[in-house]
Amino acid sequence: MLDGIKLLLVEDDEDDYILTRDLLDDIRPANIQLDWVTSVAQALEILKTSDHDLCLVDYQLGKENGLQLLNSVRTTGIPTPIIMLTGQPDSNLEIEAQRAGAVDYLVKMELSSASLGRSIRYARARRAAEEERIQRLQAESENRSKSQFLTHLSHELRTPLTSILGYTELLLTQEREPTKLKNLRTIERNGHHLLNLLNDVLNLSRIEAGKLELDHNAVNLETCLADLQSQLQVRAREKNIELNFCATDELPETIYTDATRLQQILLNLLGNAIKFTQEGRVELCVTLSTDHSNVDKIHFRILDTGIGIDESAQKTIFEPFSQAGYSSARNRDAGFGLGLAISRELAHALGGSINCESKPGAGSAFTLTLETGDISKIPRKPLNLTSRTELPRTNPSPTLSGRILIADDLADIRQLIGSILEAAGAEVVFAKNGQQAVDKILSSETSAEKIDAVVMDLQMPELDGFSALRTLRGKGFERPVIALTASAMQGERDRCMQAGFTDYLGKPIHVRTLLNLLSKHIALTNDPKHPGRQLSDVTRKHTVLLVEDNEDARRATTTLITHLGWNVVSAGNAADALKLASLPESDLTGAAVIDADHIDVALIDLGLPDIDGYQLAKKMRSGRLRDSRIIAVSGTQAEPERIKDAGFDAHILKPIGLQILTDLLQAESNFKEDAL
Ligand code: ADP
Repeated sequence: MLDGIKLLLVEDDEDDYILTRDLLDDIRPANIQLDWVTSVAQALEILKTSDHDLCLVDYQLGKENGLQLLNSVRTTGIPTPIIMLTGQPDSNLEIEAQRAGAVDYLVKMELSSASLGRSIRYARARRAAEEERIQRLQAESENRSKSQFLTHLSHELRTPLTSILGYTELLLTQEREPTKLKNLRTIERNGHHLLNLLNDVLNLSRIEAGKLELDHNAVNLETCLADLQSQLQVRAREKNIELNFCATDELPETIYTDATRLQQILLNLLGNAIKFTQEGRVELCVTLSTDHSNVDKIHFRILDTGIGIDESAQKTIFEPFSQAGYSSARNRDAGFGLGLAISRELAHALGGSINCESKPGAGSAFTLTLETGDISKIPRKPLNLTSRTELPRTNPSPTLSGRILIADDLADIRQLIGSILEAAGAEVVFAKNGQQAVDKILSSETSAEKIDAVVMDLQMPELDGFSALRTLRGKGFERPVIALTASAMQGERDRCMQAGFTDYLGKPIHVRTLLNLLSKHIALTNDPKHPGRQLSDVTRKHTVLLVEDNEDARRATTTLITHLGWNVVSAGNAADALKLASLPESDLTGAAVIDADHIDVALIDLGLPDIDGYQLAKKMRSGRLRDSRIIAVSGTQAEPERIKDAGFDAHILKPIGLQILTDLLQAESNFKEDAL
């Protein structure tokens, strides 16, 4: 361990130098290099530029002493560890030397080659530990600045995306010419592509910075798999690929893990399998095992008959931004090479792993292995999804009419049900959560475009299906509401019926069952003579104050809000915004467009040039906008506590598209109408 070590001895007595050299020579078989100087100045000169591993310094150096060297070394930041040597034991000096930074204190008359060797080894180990600590601190600080950089970048990118996507969406609603529509859709698709990339990069950096929050719970396996199957059916069907889920063992009803992360990993692996398979099938097979330490494990093996991955690429595909060469699948659905990197990090965070086996041209198999937690007392049963999942090969004949609202937080499921119902002849309206469903249904009640029936998922953010139904029934909505649930729990149906749902539908979605259910309950009495009412009719009277310093983003958002029928006044900084919010109506620029006597909604960008959005919101809350809705807008996630403390009602993440604004303003107009 001491072989090759380089020592510097600071000693003014030649006899003591020879003694030390002899002792070092006796430390066998080490090959130790010893350099010798006689003064503090010479020692400092050498230590500043040399790479000595250790310095031995005598306390008595003529008129100088070893403590002076220790002090100078400390103030100049020289990292070489120093051992102090003295002629006589002196406990006060020992303490002083250690305070000055000596790593050891040795008395010459007690010195042996063994004790000297031990002391050198110890000093070296301490230095290695110190270097490791410094490197770790450096890495941590680099990681911190990396994630600050990414947060900043995210904000800077989301603002221009607001203009790009906002104008595109607007033009898409106005354009009729097929070629121009196609071009616009290309811009829109690529804008969303960029947004997805941004989200993926942030996701990965959050995981790498150890900021991932996990939520371990008992996860119902059949529910989780049924949800996945429903989400992926559409994509598989589009490509004419068979999608099968199976289990060789009876599976525990629940395992202990984080449901969201598990779904995210499986969705990515299954999504890739479908993406890189042109014909044949994709299969998810679930098995259980127990390892030699008696830990229960679950394996999700995703097999495809796709293009496969060659051996060299298999080694890199889990690295960020790596893609296995050119493939014909590199089309508009191609990702960024981040999905597998994120999935592997997530699997590690869950205490598991992912591995890949593949043969080019024959297909691939990715296996996610996780610990199940204690499943000894959990009942087991065979997995039974296939009987409920088949989609018809041809579009169902139109058997439905009327307007049906589909409420589900999963976009793919909304799309799946939507396409089935549209193909059957119904008109569909979507809601992403219970609150949105309630808002849309209640506002439609006052219009000619009434909702005839609702398909409502039970587990949704903001407001779950049961609470949404309760609100609807409480407000007198009596038309059919069908509960949609992936839960395979016994008694779920009874719970739904008791709660006031009209009927119950299990996931995965079975087309015939869905259509039969709806045609059984739906009232086919939509009056076609009633013309539809536009959102703008309901909302025309309200005004938005938009505070955004980026001129393009401000113009894009203004145009979208105006398109939705609202009035807008806008400001590029906090000072102008305050003027707009507090001047009497008649003094306002563009006062003609301002209805009634105040601003109903304020949208405030958090990063303004004069004072930040938080301070602006506080000022507005204490002024004339006391009762208005004040919404924070930013390019990065904001801390909920700060948002609340500043007096904001909500926070939205850029880009601000038509859908976000529609939801926001519609909720506002419902609120206003309710209050009337
Ligand atoms: P991407 O977003 O490009 O799909 P991923 O990290 O999910 O990124 O995958 C990285 C690369 O691994 C893909 O670009 C593809 O080349 C390869 N790959 C992943 N899954 C499969 C699969 N099932 N079959 C063939 N190639 C795959």
